[in-house]
Amino acid sequence: EAPLMRILDAHRTYKVRKRGTFNTYRNVQAVRGVTFDILPRENFGIVGESGCGKSTLTRLLAWLETPDRGDIQLAGTSLAALSRRSLLDKRSEFQLLLQDPYNALPPRTTVGRMIEEGLRLRGGLSRRELRERVVAAMREVGLAPALYDQLPNALSTGERQRISIARALILSPKLLILDETLSALDQGEQAKLIDLFSQLQEKNDLTYVFISHDLAMVRKVCTRIAVMYLGEMVEIADNHDLFFDPQHPYTKALLSAAPTLEDKPFDPGDYLLEGEPPSPIDIPPGCSFASRCPQAFGRCRAETPRLREHKPGRFAACHLLDTEEVGEAAAA
Ligand code: SF4
Ligand code: MG
Repeated sequence: EAPLMRILDAHRTYKVRKRGTFNTYRNVQAVRGVTFDILPRENFGIVGESGCGKSTLTRLLAWLETPDRGDIQLAGTSLAALSRRSLLDKRSEFQLLLQDPYNALPPRTTVGRMIEEGLRLRGGLSRRELRERVVAAMREVGLAPALYDQLPNALSTGERQRISIARALILSPKLLILDETLSALDQGEQAKLIDLFSQLQEKNDLTYVFISHDLAMVRKVCTRIAVMYLGEMVEIADNHDLFFDPQHPYTKALLSAAPTLEDKPFDPGDYLLEGEPPSPIDIPPGCSFASRCPQAFGRCRAETPRLREHKPGRFAACHLLDTEEVGEAAAA
């Protein structure tokens, strides 16, 4: 099946002013050559520590920013080739859920006004039609229509999350991008939302991208998962392969360190993750994980490993996997 979205060698660099200077700028390389497909109706997870480029990649996926190198394609059409008008039309198919719309919108906006915003801006509907669509969306996400005229300050975190889902859903998206959406919720509320996401997926043919640092949550909901480190994807695999037979030393370290992850192949301490990642302003040559990798060897500091498919559907960027392949070939 054709991918819903293709991300091809996407790069995104920001300029930041050097501390203590007036006009000296440095480049922060937030996303560095990321390539992957999002398949229709999958639950794609993106995990990594804070500062790994997840948030920048999130904005690229929602088309709120464009890559400064590389491309994003939709059904074979390059984002760069679209006119401004069709870009705006298409963009509403990819909805980024705000973590808390209450913080992003004027404080005296009612629940109904919040949910209708995107649809109202699109134009063409009467007040009454708008209201009907909002009430339908509220029902769909399990919000009582009686909340329509309420101000959201009295609502729970779970209810506010439902408001963001309704806000997105009302625009009939194909893809919902959820940036830490489930992280702030307690277990019960999280389970209810996961249920809701799967119902909405069935009904509306939705695809999800979950961006999170929470491995236990990602394991519960995602079918395929990518691990990011310092602006790159170091591993992509199906849920089971990633959690039971990870290939990349960084993935192994992440799983080994995850406190809330039960039934995993490593104990804490099997793979220690020490130190901090290098600064995205000053990225060393070779493998970006080399400074923390317990298995680093000579080649790692000289040559950057490429993400490649070394077993069907399993991608990783690590020289060790080449070595193993050579070993297998020799043994055969
Ligand atoms: Fe570690 Fe080398 Fe693999 Fe990088 S390429 S993850 S440093 S073994
Ligand atoms: Mg971030």
